Amino acid sequence: MTRRPKRAKGATPGGGPSARLFARARAVIPGGVNSPVRAFRAVGGTPVFVRRARGARLVSADGRALLDFCGSWGPLVLGHAHPAVVEAVQRAAADGTSFGACTKREVELAELLCAQVPSMKRVRLVNSGTEACMTAIRLARAHTGRAKILKFDGGYHGHADPFLVAAGSGLLTAGVASSAGVPGAVAADVLVAPYNDIAAVERLAVRHGRDLAAIVVEPVAGNMGLVPPAPGFLEGLRKIARATGAVLIFDEVITGFRLGPTTVGVLRGIAPDLTCLGKIVGGGLPIGAVGGRAGIMDRLAPLGDVYQAGTLSGNPVAVAAGLATLRTLLAEDPYARMAALGETLARGFDEAARRRGVAAHCAQLGGLFTVFFGEGPVRNLADARRCDAAAYARFFRRMLDAGIYLPPSAFETCFLSAAHTPADIARFLAAAARALASSS
Ligand SMILES: *Cc1c(COP(=O)(O)O)cnc(C)c1O
Repeated sequence: MTRRPKRAKGATPGGGPSARLFARARAVIPGGVNSPVRAFRAVGGTPVFVRRARGARLVSADGRALLDFCGSWGPLVLGHAHPAVVEAVQRAAADGTSFGACTKREVELAELLCAQVPSMKRVRLVNSGTEACMTAIRLARAHTGRAKILKFDGGYHGHADPFLVAAGSGLLTAGVASSAGVPGAVAADVLVAPYNDIAAVERLAVRHGRDLAAIVVEPVAGNMGLVPPAPGFLEGLRKIARATGAVLIFDEVITGFRLGPTTVGVLRGIAPDLTCLGKIVGGGLPIGAVGGRAGIMDRLAPLGDVYQAGTLSGNPVAVAAGLATLRTLLAEDPYARMAALGETLARGFDEAARRRGVAAHCAQLGGLFTVFFGEGPVRNLADARRCDAAAYARFFRRMLDAGIYLPPSAFETCFLSAAHTPADIARFLAAAARALASSS
């Protein structure tokens, strides 16, 4: 029996299929979305409903083709519906979607992760980046016998309670500094420092070092827009964590296998104690992974006293998609190509903004980029907040009108994939130049 949903208040009456679906969604799903970043509240208009996608292109429920620079928020480094991934998923699904028992493929994925990330002596597969980060701090607290964690303003580590203090991504978009429903006692154990401010971390370490269980950081920040680490920042964190005895956790849920077939920790020669992965390592299916030093990881049940579990953990279909993605990345090594496209895009955007006298710039690293409407560079959340979010919203709508799909928020990172071509970048730049021209 199907329920006939009431039309939600404020939905575009008589709109296209996306608008009609959104009206139905809002009657039965809070805000009409299953993750708040998908709502268009920060940019205006109706969320795009996607019918299907291939390569760098989405087809909306309205039948529009959109050039995609959101990439499902990071996992789709090979583009949508990559043949190797689709085939792996179909084969795995045909053999059974879940067993709640061990499989060969999960061993292969764990071996591959440990081989590509030498600081990972052990790794456990979970179902999301949130779970990976949640497990990482539980391990750090057990390992150190301490309670406090230090995170960075605008850092996002999923939606477990302690991470919703001064968090980035959707919490910035929604304009909430923190979430309701997080007990004060949980928030009291969370210290927050500005990103890229090693002196602030040192001050907190002097005061709280003996209570500090973990320092958790995105080694390249991606949830306040793209903010690369300043020279010496990650090295400084490594030093402070060692001096205080805190566990250093690199949250590489976005950056793992994004800038090379490994982590930022490996690329920069800094070994964290624990690393969190997600997104790319599941190839577009739900997954997360937490790994690191054997002495910490072996505290996990059933070996140790730190409990962690999951009915669908190491799911055969998700693991197959992840393996196919990582093996394709290793075989095809598209990173230099994505980085070159990223550089062309960023240089082209900066030039267009300069020519039109618009205070905007493009932060870029490899295939990651963010368009900031403000003078550069953005080094932390305060800098990102000083940018003009309304100008981004106008830019977003003009780009969408031109058939280009960006993340619907000024505080997010855009993603290139191996499926993007120089022609796609040229199309982005032509549309951006027009969007900037009409904004001045
Ligand atoms: C996306 C993200 C997470 C959370 O992962 P989910 O799979 O959405 O739970 C954690 N940390 C970072 C850096 C992320 O970008």
